[in-house]
Amino acid sequence: MNLRCEGCGAQLTLEPELRTALCPYCGSTSIVERPAETDRPTPAFALGFAVSRGQVHESARAWLGRRSWFAKSGVRKAALEHLQGIYLPAYLYSSVAHVDYRAEIGEHYTETETYSDTENGKKVTKTRRVTKTEWHPLSGRLDDYVADTLVTASKGLPNSELGAVEPFDLRQLRRFQPALLSGWLAEEPTLTQPQCLELARAEMRRSVESRLRGFLPGDEQRGLSHTLEVAQESLELCLLPVWVLAARYAPDSPPMRIVVNGQTGKTTGKVPLSWTKIAAAALGAALVAGGLVYLLLLQKP
Ligand SMILES: [Zn+2]
Repeated sequence: MNLRCEGCGAQLTLEPELRTALCPYCGSTSIVERPAETDRPTPAFALGFAVSRGQVHESARAWLGRRSWFAKSGVRKAALEHLQGIYLPAYLYSSVAHVDYRAEIGEHYTETETYSDTENGKKVTKTRRVTKTEWHPLSGRLDDYVADTLVTASKGLPNSELGAVEPFDLRQLRRFQPALLSGWLAEEPTLTQPQCLELARAEMRRSVESRLRGFLPGDEQRGLSHTLEVAQESLELCLLPVWVLAARYAPDSPPMRIVVNGQTGKTTGKVPLSWTKIAAAALGAALVAGGLVYLLLLQKP
Protein backbone atom coordinates (compact mmCIF):
# COMPACT_ATOMS: atom_id res chain seq x y z
CA MET A 1 0.00 0.00 0.00
CA ASN A 2 1.03 3.62 -0.48
CA LEU A 3 0.96 6.34 2.16
CA ARG A 4 1.86 9.99 2.22
CA CYS A 5 2.78 12.09 5.26
CA GLU A 6 1.06 15.46 5.21
CA GLY A 7 3.62 16.70 7.73
CA CYS A 8 6.94 16.24 5.87
CA GLY A 9 5.86 15.00 2.45
CA ALA A 10 7.43 11.54 2.75
CA GLN A 11 5.89 8.93 0.41
CA LEU A 12 5.97 5.48 1.92
CA THR A 13 5.44 2.11 0.30
CA LEU A 14 4.71 -0.86 2.55
CA GLU A 15 2.88 -4.11 2.94
CA PRO A 16 -0.66 -3.62 4.28
CA GLU A 17 0.16 -5.34 7.58
CA LEU A 18 2.90 -2.78 8.25
CA ARG A 19 0.37 0.06 8.06
CA THR A 20 1.52 2.85 10.34
CA ALA A 21 -0.38 5.64 11.99
CA LEU A 22 2.75 7.69 12.62
CA CYS A 23 5.22 9.12 10.12
CA PRO A 24 8.58 7.47 10.88
CA TYR A 25 10.43 10.65 9.85
CA CYS A 26 8.55 13.44 11.57
CA GLY A 27 6.17 11.68 13.95
CA SER A 28 3.15 13.32 12.33
CA THR A 29 -0.16 11.44 12.53
CA SER A 30 -1.40 13.01 9.29
CA ILE A 31 -0.79 9.89 7.24
CA VAL A 32 -3.07 9.48 4.24
CA GLU A 33 -3.41 6.73 1.71
CA ARG A 34 -2.45 7.74 -1.81
CA PRO A 35 -2.76 6.06 -5.19
CA ALA A 36 0.34 4.24 -6.47
CA GLU A 37 2.41 6.30 -8.85
CA THR A 38 2.98 4.69 -12.19
CA ASP A 39 5.87 6.83 -13.43
CA ARG A 40 8.08 6.52 -10.38
CA PRO A 41 11.71 5.56 -11.07
CA THR A 42 12.72 2.00 -10.16
CA PRO A 43 15.76 1.63 -7.90
CA ALA A 44 18.80 0.18 -9.63
CA PHE A 45 20.64 -0.99 -6.50
CA ALA A 46 19.99 -1.62 -2.82
CA LEU A 47 21.94 -2.30 0.35
CA GLY A 48 20.54 -4.72 2.92
CA PHE A 49 20.10 -4.16 6.66
CA ALA A 50 22.96 -5.54 8.78
CA VAL A 51 22.19 -3.89 12.13
CA SER A 52 19.42 -5.40 14.24
CA ARG A 53 16.71 -3.62 16.19
CA GLY A 54 18.50 -4.42 19.46
CA GLN A 55 21.83 -3.07 18.20
CA VAL A 56 20.11 0.15 17.07
CA HIS A 57 18.72 0.56 20.58
CA GLU A 58 22.21 0.16 22.04
CA SER A 59 23.84 2.54 19.54
CA ALA A 60 21.19 5.18 20.16
CA ARG A 61 21.51 4.81 23.96
CA ALA A 62 25.30 5.10 23.80
CA TRP A 63 25.08 8.08 21.43
CA LEU A 64 22.62 9.92 23.70
CA GLY A 65 24.87 9.21 26.67
CA ARG A 66 27.77 10.96 24.93
CA ARG A 67 25.83 14.22 24.33
CA SER A 68 27.38 17.34 25.83
CA TRP A 69 26.45 19.05 29.05
CA PHE A 70 24.80 21.78 26.94
CA ALA A 71 22.07 19.40 25.76
CA LYS A 72 18.67 19.98 27.34
CA SER A 73 18.29 18.06 30.57
CA GLY A 74 16.72 14.68 30.00
CA VAL A 75 18.38 14.18 26.59
CA ARG A 76 20.99 11.75 27.85
CA LYS A 77 18.30 9.63 29.52
CA ALA A 78 15.61 10.12 26.84
CA ALA A 79 13.08 7.34 26.28
CA LEU A 80 13.40 5.71 22.85
CA GLU A 81 10.21 5.23 20.82
CA HIS A 82 8.92 4.28 17.38
CA LEU A 83 11.99 2.46 16.14
CA GLN A 84 11.45 1.89 12.43
CA GLY A 85 13.66 0.53 9.66
CA ILE A 86 13.22 2.26 6.31
CA TYR A 87 14.72 1.84 2.87
CA LEU A 88 15.73 5.41 2.07
CA PRO A 89 15.85 6.46 -1.59
CA ALA A 90 19.17 8.05 -2.53
CA TYR A 91 21.06 8.71 -5.71
CA LEU A 92 24.53 7.38 -6.30
CA TYR A 93 26.50 9.83 -8.41
CA SER A 94 29.79 9.45 -10.22
CA SER A 95 31.63 11.53 -12.80
CA VAL A 96 35.03 12.45 -14.13
CA ALA A 97 36.13 15.98 -13.30
CA HIS A 98 38.74 17.84 -15.35
CA VAL A 99 40.06 20.83 -13.46
CA ASP A 100 42.19 23.58 -15.01
CA TYR A 101 43.73 25.59 -12.23
CA ARG A 102 46.05 28.51 -11.72
CA ALA A 103 47.46 29.81 -8.48
CA GLU A 104 50.51 31.42 -6.97
CA ILE A 105 52.69 29.11 -4.95
CA GLY A 106 54.71 30.54 -2.08
CA GLU A 107 57.96 28.94 -0.90
CA HIS A 108 59.42 30.00 2.43
CA TYR A 109 63.12 30.77 2.81
CA THR A 110 65.16 32.42 5.53
CA GLU A 111 67.53 35.30 5.13
CA THR A 112 69.94 37.06 7.44
CA GLU A 113 69.35 40.77 7.51
CA THR A 114 71.20 43.53 9.26
CA TYR A 115 69.52 46.28 11.20
CA SER A 116 70.61 49.06 13.50
CA ASP A 117 69.74 49.33 17.13
CA THR A 118 70.74 51.54 20.03
CA GLU A 119 72.61 50.02 22.96
CA ASN A 120 73.68 52.14 25.95
CA GLY A 121 73.14 55.25 23.87
CA LYS A 122 75.35 53.96 21.04
CA LYS A 123 74.25 52.96 17.58
CA VAL A 124 75.10 49.31 16.82
CA THR A 125 74.53 47.05 13.82
CA LYS A 126 72.94 43.64 14.46
CA THR A 127 71.80 40.72 12.35
CA ARG A 128 68.67 38.59 12.53
CA ARG A 129 67.09 35.66 10.63
CA VAL A 130 63.84 36.42 8.85
CA THR A 131 61.46 34.15 6.93
CA LYS A 132 60.43 35.40 3.51
CA THR A 133 58.16 33.98 0.83
CA GLU A 134 59.01 33.68 -2.83
CA TRP A 135 55.97 33.52 -5.09
CA HIS A 136 55.81 31.90 -8.47
CA PRO A 137 52.82 31.15 -10.70
CA LEU A 138 51.65 27.61 -11.30
CA SER A 139 48.93 26.31 -13.59
CA GLY A 140 47.95 22.86 -14.66
CA ARG A 141 45.25 20.26 -15.08
CA LEU A 142 43.99 17.73 -12.60
CA ASP A 143 41.75 14.81 -13.53
CA ASP A 144 39.66 13.42 -10.73
CA TYR A 145 37.35 10.43 -10.82
CA VAL A 146 34.50 11.20 -8.46
CA ALA A 147 32.78 7.97 -7.47
CA ASP A 148 30.33 6.99 -4.77
CA THR A 149 28.76 10.32 -3.94
CA LEU A 150 25.43 9.66 -2.24
CA VAL A 151 22.65 12.23 -1.99
CA THR A 152 19.21 11.88 -0.47
CA ALA A 153 16.16 11.65 -2.70
CA SER A 154 13.85 12.11 0.28
CA LYS A 155 12.24 15.29 1.52
CA GLY A 156 11.80 13.58 4.88
CA LEU A 157 15.52 13.01 5.51
CA PRO A 158 17.76 15.89 4.38
CA ASN A 159 21.18 15.40 2.86
CA SER A 160 22.95 16.69 5.97
CA GLU A 161 21.47 13.85 8.04
CA LEU A 162 22.33 11.25 5.41
CA GLY A 163 25.88 12.69 5.31
CA ALA A 164 26.12 12.37 9.08
CA VAL A 165 25.51 8.60 9.01
CA GLU A 166 27.71 7.99 5.96
CA PRO A 167 29.78 6.18 4.85
CA PHE A 168 27.96 3.11 3.61
CA ASP A 169 30.05 0.22 2.36
CA LEU A 170 28.97 0.43 -1.27
CA ARG A 171 30.84 -2.76 -2.20
CA GLN A 172 27.81 -4.52 -0.69
CA LEU A 173 25.40 -2.92 -3.19
CA ARG A 174 23.24 -5.45 -4.97
CA ARG A 175 20.88 -5.17 -7.93
CA PHE A 176 17.48 -4.17 -6.59
CA GLN A 177 14.95 -7.00 -6.14
CA PRO A 178 11.41 -6.16 -4.96
CA ALA A 179 11.59 -9.16 -2.55
CA LEU A 180 14.17 -7.20 -0.53
CA LEU A 181 11.44 -4.85 0.70
CA SER A 182 9.37 -7.61 2.23
CA GLY A 183 8.80 -6.78 5.90
CA TRP A 184 10.23 -3.25 5.61
CA LEU A 185 8.97 0.25 4.95
CA ALA A 186 10.37 1.85 1.85
CA GLU A 187 10.17 5.43 0.74
CA GLU A 188 9.71 6.61 -2.79
CA PRO A 189 11.83 9.51 -4.04
CA THR A 190 10.18 12.82 -3.20
CA LEU A 191 12.97 14.95 -4.63
CA THR A 192 13.19 15.04 -8.41
CA GLN A 193 16.17 13.70 -10.29
CA PRO A 194 17.30 17.23 -11.36
CA GLN A 195 17.15 18.37 -7.71
CA CYS A 196 19.28 15.40 -6.67
CA LEU A 197 21.71 15.98 -9.53
CA GLU A 198 22.20 19.55 -8.25
CA LEU A 199 22.89 18.27 -4.72
CA ALA A 200 25.36 15.70 -6.08
CA ARG A 201 27.19 18.22 -8.26
CA ALA A 202 27.57 20.60 -5.32
CA GLU A 203 29.06 17.75 -3.26
CA MET A 204 31.35 16.79 -6.15
CA ARG A 205 32.56 20.41 -6.53
CA ARG A 206 33.36 20.60 -2.80
CA SER A 207 35.33 17.36 -2.92
CA VAL A 208 37.26 18.41 -6.07
CA GLU A 209 38.11 21.78 -4.53
CA SER A 210 39.40 20.26 -1.32
CA ARG A 211 41.45 17.73 -3.29
CA LEU A 212 42.86 20.58 -5.40
CA ARG A 213 43.95 22.56 -2.33
CA GLY A 214 45.65 19.47 -0.89
CA PHE A 215 47.33 18.78 -4.22
CA LEU A 216 48.99 22.18 -4.68
CA PRO A 217 52.66 22.26 -3.66
CA GLY A 218 54.45 24.96 -1.69
CA ASP A 219 54.23 26.38 1.81
CA GLU A 220 51.46 28.82 0.92
CA GLN A 221 49.05 29.37 -1.93
CA ARG A 222 47.15 32.43 -3.06
CA GLY A 223 44.87 33.51 -5.86
CA LEU A 224 43.65 29.97 -6.62
CA SER A 225 41.14 29.90 -9.45
CA HIS A 226 39.93 26.99 -11.50
CA THR A 227 37.49 25.91 -14.15
CA LEU A 228 35.77 22.59 -13.91
CA GLU A 229 34.59 20.39 -16.75
CA VAL A 230 32.52 17.36 -15.87
CA ALA A 231 32.16 14.27 -18.05
CA GLN A 232 30.61 10.80 -17.84
CA GLU A 233 28.06 11.71 -15.19
CA SER A 234 25.93 8.90 -13.89
CA LEU A 235 23.09 9.00 -11.40
CA GLU A 236 21.51 5.78 -10.14
CA LEU A 237 18.65 5.39 -7.72
CA CYS A 238 19.48 3.19 -4.71
CA LEU A 239 17.74 2.15 -1.54
CA LEU A 240 19.77 2.51 1.66
CA PRO A 241 18.99 0.88 5.01
CA VAL A 242 18.37 3.40 7.79
CA TRP A 243 16.74 3.13 11.19
CA VAL A 244 14.76 6.11 12.43
CA LEU A 245 13.62 6.51 16.02
CA ALA A 246 12.25 9.14 18.34
CA ALA A 247 13.87 10.10 21.64
CA ARG A 248 11.50 11.69 24.13
CA TYR A 249 13.44 13.83 26.61
CA ALA A 250 10.58 15.84 28.10
CA PRO A 251 6.85 15.10 28.30
CA ASP A 252 5.89 18.54 26.96
CA SER A 253 8.38 18.78 24.04
CA PRO A 254 8.25 17.03 20.68
CA PRO A 255 10.72 14.12 20.61
CA MET A 256 14.04 14.47 18.79
CA ARG A 257 14.75 12.29 15.80
CA ILE A 258 17.67 9.88 15.76
CA VAL A 259 18.88 8.31 12.53
CA VAL A 260 21.06 5.18 12.49
CA ASN A 261 22.94 3.72 9.53
CA GLY A 262 21.33 0.29 9.01
CA GLN A 263 24.59 -1.15 7.74
CA THR A 264 27.15 0.21 10.23
CA GLY A 265 25.20 1.52 13.25
CA LYS A 266 26.61 5.06 12.87
CA THR A 267 24.20 7.37 14.67
CA THR A 268 23.15 11.02 14.35
CA GLY A 269 20.49 13.41 15.61
CA LYS A 270 19.86 17.08 16.25
CA VAL A 271 20.29 17.60 19.96
CA PRO A 272 18.12 20.34 21.48
CA LEU A 273 20.43 22.67 23.41
CA SER A 274 19.62 24.27 26.70
CA TRP A 275 19.92 28.04 26.41
CA THR A 276 19.77 28.35 30.18
CA LYS A 277 22.86 26.16 30.50
CA ILE A 278 24.67 28.03 27.70
CA ALA A 279 23.80 31.40 29.26
CA ALA A 280 24.97 30.13 32.66
CA ALA A 281 28.28 28.97 31.15
CA ALA A 282 28.73 32.29 29.33
CA LEU A 283 28.01 34.17 32.53
CA GLY A 284 30.51 31.96 34.39
CA ALA A 285 33.15 32.61 31.72
CA ALA A 286 32.47 36.34 31.88
CA LEU A 287 32.84 36.27 35.67
CA VAL A 288 36.15 34.40 35.39
CA ALA A 289 37.40 36.82 32.73
CA GLY A 290 36.21 39.78 34.83
CA GLY A 291 38.00 38.32 37.85
CA LEU A 292 41.23 37.95 35.86
CA VAL A 293 41.05 41.53 34.65
CA TYR A 294 40.48 42.65 38.23
CA LEU A 295 43.53 40.67 39.45
CA LEU A 296 45.68 42.10 36.64
CA LEU A 297 44.59 45.61 37.54
CA LEU A 298 45.44 44.94 41.20
CA GLN A 299 48.94 43.85 40.22
CA LYS A 300 49.62 47.08 38.34
CA PRO A 301 52.06 49.21 40.27
ZN1 LIG B 1 6.39 12.97 8.05
